Amino acid sequence: MTAKIIDGEAVASKIREQVKADVEEIVKTHGFPPGLATVLVGDNPASRQYVRMKQNRCKKVGIVSFGHTLSAETGQDEVEKLVRELGEDPKVHGILVQLPLPDHLDEEAVLNTIPLHKDIDGFHPVNIGRLAMKGRKPLFIPCTPAGVIRLLEEADAEFDGAEAVVLGRSNIVGMPVAMLLIHRNATVTVCHSRTKDLPGVCRRADILVAAVGRPQMVKADWVKPGAYVIDVGSNRVDDPESERGYRWVGDVDFDEVKEVAGAITPSPGGVGPMTIAGLLQNTLRAAELAIERGEVPQ
Ligand code: NDP
Repeated sequence: MTAKIIDGEAVASKIREQVKADVEEIVKTHGFPPGLATVLVGDNPASRQYVRMKQNRCKKVGIVSFGHTLSAETGQDEVEKLVRELGEDPKVHGILVQLPLPDHLDEEAVLNTIPLHKDIDGFHPVNIGRLAMKGRKPLFIPCTPAGVIRLLEEADAEFDGAEAVVLGRSNIVGMPVAMLLIHRNATVTVCHSRTKDLPGVCRRADILVAAVGRPQMVKADWVKPGAYVIDVGSNRVDDPESERGYRWVGDVDFDEVKEVAGAITPSPGGVGPMTIAGLLQNTLRAAELAIERGEVPQ
């Protein structure tokens, strides 16, 4: 059996087209574009690259981005002051603080400074709290976890009563994915570095989401035949045969697992593109909420 390949780039492209059309409508009707402010502290090359990619994607769909780069030595007060100012700027509808922040900064305190209605990453404790509660809805769902669910939907996965196993319990991927699956009526097991018999637990899964950051850890004999496998992992591994000397792989051994799974995402080309598409959707939604509140930039 060879799995159906879930093409994240194709789904993300559909989302981007829709966002672009909706942004054009906002500009036509209300006379201003949605705005996204990015805050980058320090010069981590991967973070710089992520912020640049996000800004480029914004531009392509008509969202204006306001980039703020602070030196790695910037103090807590100064970062919070900037975020507060952006919180009051009517041209800015969403604020993205690129994580991780340098070690001397209190990440939670910085995220708390983002007003709830501009928390397009969905990491504000109130948004996460609402996600964790039955019958409550966050204003914004974190982008990568939302992308995981959307890809499962696109592949026609059955959520109701499904056994779902999430590998990883991070705040930005594993935990919110687990909460979203519970909202969809799946029965969810969350695994982490202390889980015993990981392969055995994974083999129970109708839906398996891998977000551990361990290259190709999930093997074919960890997977129930016919399962839906979503690979969030994105790991750089040495590859002397490639021109660059490295390549990117997921947390799932794709070549092996695709022979067992019912449907599977590749990595790259699965969840990755969905994360940025989700950010665009959330920024659009933040602008729509501002319009509902009657906040129109001058
Ligand atoms: P974290 O390092 O924050 O969390 C990893 C989780 O995996 C932890 O809960 C950890 O357990 C668990 N874990 C680590 N090693 C093992 C192991 N050997 N067995 C069982 N559990 C283990 O990672 P993130 O959640 O931030 O990211 C996970 C992966 O997803 C990475 O490859 C990252 O690059 C990728 N990613 C991709 C995104 C995208 O847009 N495609 C976005 C965000 C992340 P414990 O809690 O016990 O330490």
